[in-house]
Amino acid sequence: MPFLALCYHRISSAAADPLGVRPEQLQAQLQALARRGLVGVSLGAAWAAEHARAPGRRIALTFDDGTADFADLAWPLLRAHGCAATLAVVTSRVGRTADWDGPRGAPLLDWPALRALAAEGVEVIAHAHTHRPLDTLAPAEALADLRAARRALRDHLGGAAGHGLAYPYGRVSPALALAAQAAGFAWAVTARGGRNTAATPAHRLRRTLLHGRDGALRLALKLWLGYAALVEWRMDLRGLP
Ligand SMILES: [Zn+2]
Repeated sequence: MPFLALCYHRISSAAADPLGVRPEQLQAQLQALARRGLVGVSLGAAWAAEHARAPGRRIALTFDDGTADFADLAWPLLRAHGCAATLAVVTSRVGRTADWDGPRGAPLLDWPALRALAAEGVEVIAHAHTHRPLDTLAPAEALADLRAARRALRDHLGGAAGHGLAYPYGRVSPALALAAQAAGFAWAVTARGGRNTAATPAHRLRRTLLHGRDGALRLALKLWLGYAALVEWRMDLRGLP
């Protein structure tokens, strides 16, 4: 059954954070998913189930950047609702701060914390080695970045890691999708909305971006239509030249 993947830019307790979803909003959204009979799973699990034509309805829950807030605020709620999730980390910045957001970028989880989350069922994937818009780099540079990201994941988390990639800023081009494949990633996700089916190109999987302004109605619309409005696509590109 075609599935949606939701993308949370970050979970944040700061009400002023325009891209952040507050924990109480995540809690309400998880309850809304459960009322619709949707089980939150990792993206890899949803993609595998789609290919296996496994019965049941599921929705992939993905979180970008690997901030400490994921472990502190989101994962306890996800576990309480019986959900799994996918966490995309910037491998050269693990244990540091999200400096691509500026000098006040959020603290990021370190490798021991990521190992602990993986042991509890979180699927850790790459969000590239550096948080650069890879489609703007020379092809060889983008490929080198992706190879470094996959190597770091496998070195630190074991051979089972390194299957998935979330493109920084959701940006992809035909050449970048080929580079993701050449670097060894089995699949990669963009920030384009829409449902995924077994026919969706593996290196252009779709995600629907959720943020703190999504109330019950907008969430229902996004779940129903699987859409990501153009305004959100642009918002994901904020701060780029
Ligand atoms: Zn990001």
